[in-house]
Amino acid sequence: MLKGYAGKVLRVDLTTQKSSVEPLKQREVELLLGGRGIAAKYYHDEIGPKVDALSSENKIIFMTGPLTGTALVSTTKFQLSTKSPETRMYLCSNCGGDFGPQLKKAGFDGIIVEGKAKKLTWLSLKDGTLEFHDAAAWKGFTSTRTLEEMRAAFGETKAGAIAIGPAGERLVRIAYINVDERAFGRGGPGAVMGSKNLKGIIVKGSSEIEVADPDKVAAIRKAAVADLKTSRANHTKFGTPQYIEVLNTLGCLPTHNFQTATFEGTDKIDAHAMKERYFEKNYACYRCTVACGKMCVVKDGPYAGARARPEFETVGLFGPNCGVSDFGAIVKANQLCDEFGIDTMSAGNAVALTMELYEKGLITKVDTMGIDARFGNPEALIGIIGLIAERKGIGDLLAEGMYGVKRVKPEWRRYILDVKGMPFAAYDPRGFTGNALTNGTSNRGACHNVGGWTIRAELQSGKYDRYALEGKAALVKGAQDSRAYVDSIGMCTVVRGAFSFSENPTGEVMEAVTGHPFTPKLMEIAQRIYCMERVILNREGIRRKDDLMPDRITKEAIASGPTKGRTLTAEQYDFMLDDYYKLRGWDADGVVTEETRKRWGLTELLG
Ligand code: SF4
Repeated sequence: MLKGYAGKVLRVDLTTQKSSVEPLKQREVELLLGGRGIAAKYYHDEIGPKVDALSSENKIIFMTGPLTGTALVSTTKFQLSTKSPETRMYLCSNCGGDFGPQLKKAGFDGIIVEGKAKKLTWLSLKDGTLEFHDAAAWKGFTSTRTLEEMRAAFGETKAGAIAIGPAGERLVRIAYINVDERAFGRGGPGAVMGSKNLKGIIVKGSSEIEVADPDKVAAIRKAAVADLKTSRANHTKFGTPQYIEVLNTLGCLPTHNFQTATFEGTDKIDAHAMKERYFEKNYACYRCTVACGKMCVVKDGPYAGARARPEFETVGLFGPNCGVSDFGAIVKANQLCDEFGIDTMSAGNAVALTMELYEKGLITKVDTMGIDARFGNPEALIGIIGLIAERKGIGDLLAEGMYGVKRVKPEWRRYILDVKGMPFAAYDPRGFTGNALTNGTSNRGACHNVGGWTIRAELQSGKYDRYALEGKAALVKGAQDSRAYVDSIGMCTVVRGAFSFSENPTGEVMEAVTGHPFTPKLMEIAQRIYCMERVILNREGIRRKDDLMPDRITKEAIASGPTKGRTLTAEQYDFMLDDYYKLRGWDADGVVTEETRKRWGLTELLG
């Protein structure tokens, strides 16, 4: 096995309480790297299209990459792949924290969890020794408290741990997995753990990860640390909330459930307000010198004492999209999501939808259990999150995710901003067309990460006309592909520039770690991974009809601000989508052609 890898995968059967160890296949590593690529391959082979996300037949695959846990910077990332309870299709998710590095140090590249435990269970793994423990006493505990209880019971400092909260136990389809206070946020993987009666996993390893050229790795690390001090200074100072001001100024910040894209109260919730009034300290993932997490504490007012680390998406979707300009309420809402264990992005969309339905008279206080669900009411934001997590009133329907809401209430479709059941992030695509294609063609439903982050290129670089249609397919495809390989090597995307992990990767990082000449092939591998994921989606019935924009984007114009009057018509979007399918080598219905399968070696790999 190449250096950088442990060479083994642990398979855990919760039904029988047995485990086994299997080798990581070198040929698959050469073709798919690790992380997202290898996890998707396991998904393809073991989770069929008819498997229900909340059944015992579903599996959760956690997979590190070759850089995870090595001495470089921010080598924190690992991946998850499972059938999503929220979208009812393939889900990939990426997370930091200590769990991935500790798993690798314990001697495993990944863990596959399958079956269903008879009662609530937690798992501990220490240097290859796996134990099953009764978690019945922790039923209903918050995800944060569960992490604490596991750490205390395990008795190891610096262990990596994952846990779900009560929402996961209740099979809320937007439940997240808390990972050392980071999260596998999107797609509802917390409900998969809940359906398996798995409350948490803790892991500690003591071996060092061997690399091919330790001296070169040390030199690369030193240069990257110096680079990040300046290249990521804004992330260190302000974190991702720095984008609130930018997006608002450019008229792309979703407001009042995407009815408009500029918010008047932004100065109360942007990164400067956060830093001046709420900031407590920075948070860093494993071996990260950037420390982009911003722990915030509310010092006074009705939410005094609330603590959370709101990211840009959380601020954008709880703030402007719900009309809330009280940063204290946003911190409180974020803290509640952490305690219940639900995704702030899907929750923000669900609350905004509820507010619009309420203001339009389509639901009443009977549905909201007495909550006055007007836009801008911070108490409504907090109250509706509680309804979702506890499956009360309209919260029981919202807990089914947008896919479930549309099935029960098809007439609400025009107010729902999602693709393939995944709600939008805090960007309005009517303000920059590439972002629409990002959301439409992302392999996990609307997503600004897996779908390709085009914000800087379209809005800040000056290289692109933000409203143009030509050239956007190539921009989005390039961003998607480079992200696919970064997600597969185990490094954080925020720091990748310091290692030349771009669309034209250079340098010798992969060679210094693994000893294998990966670098010139990274984009080729990335395209293989992206196409393999689309093959999985095609197998699950996903076609062009599923890649389209919601009605609000194509039929309604932005109501005010610098982008007032802007829309993106279905014809304009179709132009970009046709272009994109041609570049990918998919047919006009979005199906990967036989020729493209052969081109990326998928015929051999997938059979
Ligand atoms: S840059 Fe932020 S997300 Fe990335 S590893 Fe560092 S702290 Fe974690």
